[in-house]
Amino acid sequence: MLMEHLAALRRFSGLCERRCAACLTVFEPEAGKGDALSQSLCPGCRARIVRREAGFCPYCGEPFALSDAPCVPCGKCLRVLPPWREFLFFGVYEGLLRELILRGKFGASLASLRFLGELLADVCSAYYAAATLPDAVIPMPLHVRRLRERGYNQCRELVRPLSARLGVPVRDDMLLRAEETAMQATLDRERRLSMGRPFVAGAVRGMRVLLVDDVCTTGTTLTRAAECLLQAGALYVDVAVVARSSSHTPPETLSRA
Ligand SMILES: [Zn+2]
Ligand SMILES: [Zn+2]
Repeated sequence: MLMEHLAALRRFSGLCERRCAACLTVFEPEAGKGDALSQSLCPGCRARIVRREAGFCPYCGEPFALSDAPCVPCGKCLRVLPPWREFLFFGVYEGLLRELILRGKFGASLASLRFLGELLADVCSAYYAAATLPDAVIPMPLHVRRLRERGYNQCRELVRPLSARLGVPVRDDMLLRAEETAMQATLDRERRLSMGRPFVAGAVRGMRVLLVDDVCTTGTTLTRAAECLLQAGALYVDVAVVARSSSHTPPETLSRA
């Protein structure tokens, strides 16, 4: 009888067990901690993802060689400031963080995307605890060709946990790829005028916007997207990305890190 009870108990605890979002092993979440790293990763994987808290440019997130260097503007931002108001990111695009982003992007791993979305939610909810919440969370739209190949936009998945945590709606109708609208038969005048630009904005006039992407490398796409939203009358644009890749380190070097 006792043995039966024990077996039942074990089966029941099996239902409650937690699996690491990266390596899938069963682990015990850290007691008393509510952040995504402690709740979703086993201790081994947790040690392989580091939040970057110093050693980057505060305007564009460009990481410096030393992770404990002071946060000072990079050479690029000293020349021209980016169009966004705030730049938020979790870590440098390397190691396990990079691996999980690639899994989400090309491996259709919804578990990875959910976890990365939770990381982003941690970063953003900490920031907006002391700042006015945005009116809309806008995922970076995917190139139409990519969307057709992949079948889903990973940023659309990334923003789910973030939107839920902040209590701010996702608006994926506020920023579109220009070629997407070009394919529609009926184009209004404004949209036709904007042809030749990569993005077309929706009705964002007077809105505080949080634009989300998975990785920022040179920042060119984010700059074009933010400029488009501002030209359409957005009050300001904040940017949040999971990972910031260093524009000084070639991706091949990072993949071996
Ligand atoms: Zn693990
Ligand atoms: Zn910078």
